[in-house]
Amino acid sequence: MRTIAVYPGSFDPPTFGHLDIIDRSSRVFSRVIVSVALNIRKNVMFTPAERVALLGKLTRSYSNVEIDSFRGLLVNYARDKGAHVVVRGLRAISDFEYEFQMAHMNKKLAAEVDTVFMMTGERYSYISSNIVKEIAAFGGKIDDLVPALVRDQVLRKIRKGK
Ligand code: ADP
Repeated sequence: MRTIAVYPGSFDPPTFGHLDIIDRSSRVFSRVIVSVALNIRKNVMFTPAERVALLGKLTRSYSNVEIDSFRGLLVNYARDKGAHVVVRGLRAISDFEYEFQMAHMNKKLAAEVDTVFMMTGERYSYISSNIVKEIAAFGGKIDDLVPALVRDQVLRKIRKGK
């Protein structure tokens, strides 16, 4: 069976943690749609178009991964795409409560869509987009957290903001 999965998120910016989930999902599902959530959020560093472009460059080598963006309810988007799986990453217990609530709510809204959780790779468990932005803003090295392409863009944004 061809299983289409949607991997939604803010990806502001994409990190090695996100890329690990994308890599592993691409081996499990026939098609993975990585989708940038356009719902309004404060404190974003990158525009949706910039995040889509970054993800596109970072996943170029995967033939079954595509990048998109969506607005509104995730389950409606998943249905439109013919996806029966939503992939989410889990880092720590702190992620669990919110994810638990979302997965149940999404199941209630669309019984045919299942949420599949991937446990973070050990090396990536402490990485989040917010940590990346904070460390970079205070002049710390982010080379172990994001690919060089993302690092350069984050540093450019910080320089522009000063
Ligand atoms: P959101 O605002 O939807 O949580 P994020 O971009 O922060 O967007 O995260 C998207 C998804 O990727 C979430 O399921 C999140 O738990 C997961 N994720 C983020 N960082 C990591 C990581 N280091 N390891 C595994 N999963 C991660």
